[in-house]
Amino acid sequence: MNWTAEDSDNFYGISRWGEEFFGVNDKGELTVFPVRDDKSIQISLQDVINEMKDQHVRFPAVIRFQDVLRSRVEDLNKSFNSAIKELNYCADYRGVYPVKVNQMREVVEEIVDAGDRYAYGLEAGSKAELMSVLSMDQNLESLTILNGYKDEDYLRLAMIGRQMGRNIVIVVEKLSELKQIVQLAEEYSVKPFIGIRSRLGFKSRGKWEGSSGDKAKFGLSLSEIVEAIKFLKDTRYLDYLKLFHFHIGSQVPSISSIQDAITEGARTFVEISKLGAPLEFFDIGGGLGINYDGSSSESDSSINYTLSEYASDVVRTLMNVCDQAEIPHPHIVSESGRAITAHHSCVITKVIGEIDPSSGEVSLTANEVSEAALKYTKYIEDSIGEMTSENFVGVYNTISKIKEESYHAYKLGLISLKERAYIEMLYWKGSKSALDFSLGDDPSSEFSLSLEGRLTTQYLCNFSVFQSTADSWAIKQLLPVVPVNRLNEKPTVRASLVDITCDSDGKINQFYCEGESKNFTRFHELNKSEDYFLGIFLTGAYQDVMGDMHNLFGRLNEVHVYCYDDDPSDFYIEEIIRGQRASNVLKTMQYNPEIMAHKVKKQIDRKIAKGVISPRQGVKMIDFYENSLHDYTYLKK
Ligand SMILES: *Cc1c(COP(=O)(O)O)cnc(C)c1O
Repeated sequence: MNWTAEDSDNFYGISRWGEEFFGVNDKGELTVFPVRDDKSIQISLQDVINEMKDQHVRFPAVIRFQDVLRSRVEDLNKSFNSAIKELNYCADYRGVYPVKVNQMREVVEEIVDAGDRYAYGLEAGSKAELMSVLSMDQNLESLTILNGYKDEDYLRLAMIGRQMGRNIVIVVEKLSELKQIVQLAEEYSVKPFIGIRSRLGFKSRGKWEGSSGDKAKFGLSLSEIVEAIKFLKDTRYLDYLKLFHFHIGSQVPSISSIQDAITEGARTFVEISKLGAPLEFFDIGGGLGINYDGSSSESDSSINYTLSEYASDVVRTLMNVCDQAEIPHPHIVSESGRAITAHHSCVITKVIGEIDPSSGEVSLTANEVSEAALKYTKYIEDSIGEMTSENFVGVYNTISKIKEESYHAYKLGLISLKERAYIEMLYWKGSKSALDFSLGDDPSSEFSLSLEGRLTTQYLCNFSVFQSTADSWAIKQLLPVVPVNRLNEKPTVRASLVDITCDSDGKINQFYCEGESKNFTRFHELNKSEDYFLGIFLTGAYQDVMGDMHNLFGRLNEVHVYCYDDDPSDFYIEEIIRGQRASNVLKTMQYNPEIMAHKVKKQIDRKIAKGVISPRQGVKMIDFYENSLHDYTYLKK
């Protein structure tokens, strides 16, 4: 049977993790549907890559689909608005985007613009983020929420923002901040807008479970909340306490955890209201997850709910608690970051080679084999010859043992390098036959899985895990990896990815395929005549900013793609942002590229003076060094 685009969609889980933003066209190219309501707009990633090549943008590179970002802002706001309408909830949704998830100016600007009609605001967690957020020309209806630990300058900037007419909410993380807020409000004569962050007793699951519970880093305990209210009453500032906030961690996999947290938060909200605080906003923080592995389960890389289920459950749970206590419904605020930005960008990297220990071909003629080696080669050849569907496990164990013994013989100097290479080649051939038998017998047996793992090749990709997909290394976050082309061909090569850093942690070996987490997936066989590009997806949240410069591989080239219906390929590249050059990254490590070039020149000059290098050669060498300084840090392949 022919392998179709649909088979690829299914194999790579594209529809399962793609939230309808990704698909495959009949040419077997991976495509993007950037606009929710217009599926006639379909952009082929291969077309974008071709245009990038025309414009001399080198890879690896980040592609941002700005329309996807807009669609996500709309998805979130529409979900909450329709839940509110359906359930007859009597207040509004006022979401904010936490800029720490991706602070790129173009990302924040796009979100602010798309969110304008919903009075969608921004959240900052540090002074620098506050300054960035203040510079954004925001709808004056929307909220600007300030979290994180604050010093006096942070609070002064907040007061200035308040004087600019912005709805700046200062969320108190520590009691000591309250005193300063009151003092500065007096000094600036502004009416502050105060929020309080509560540390919930509830403990969430998932990779960020430390964000909630008694040991959480942020927020006030119940006794501190009581103290805060007393302080605000005494200073006559209780009227300004308007927002209640909690945050249970990011990527919460299970909807029941969210319901539990909302219930507890809503109860505390009610109690604080009963103590006399005129709370108007209920801020549920982040935690809205995305379906990285496409399994729609409670696994750490997935979520067992949809966006609209999330919104309905939040609204319903909060409404029940408020109605029971007979207090007015508060406006609902959420601080979803991951769910807004993750889908909009991907990293495109080219596979530049393959590392496969099982691929070598060694030939040895009979008279080249020594007496000592013959013992092994003959034994291993005979064993493989006798392999059947009945005895393959036993035969495999035998050939593993022969390989092991030949290794010891090599160390003792009994067999040559070429002989050992030949024996290893036979071992790999035998392993492949054993795997074939085993897959025919039971593909999910331990034996099959272990041999598949051993026979997985590594595709060498021109990128750095540490710069571009930090979470896959740091917290074992699974990210979908899909070839951008050839999706109407069956992928036959079991492979995982390694990057070009000199670090054995620089690899991606976590995939979700055929319904299971595996250490490999399948890609296509490489052919010399055609570039093979892989896309690493869902990298728009956190990955863009958490990257580091391991081995001095710098930030990536980046293009911003917008959809354009009148164009035959449905898109145009609105902006190209050049990634870091070698000189940029060296400067961050305190080097001065001019002095570096000068010092290299002096060394070459000395060789010229001695007549070792001709002047013409010397000039060429210096030029090459200087040009390399101004070049991209990744491999030129
Ligand atoms: C990080 C953070 C968020 C964003 O969380 P996501 O899970 O990415 O939506 C929201 N609020 C606070 C206080 C945060 O620290």
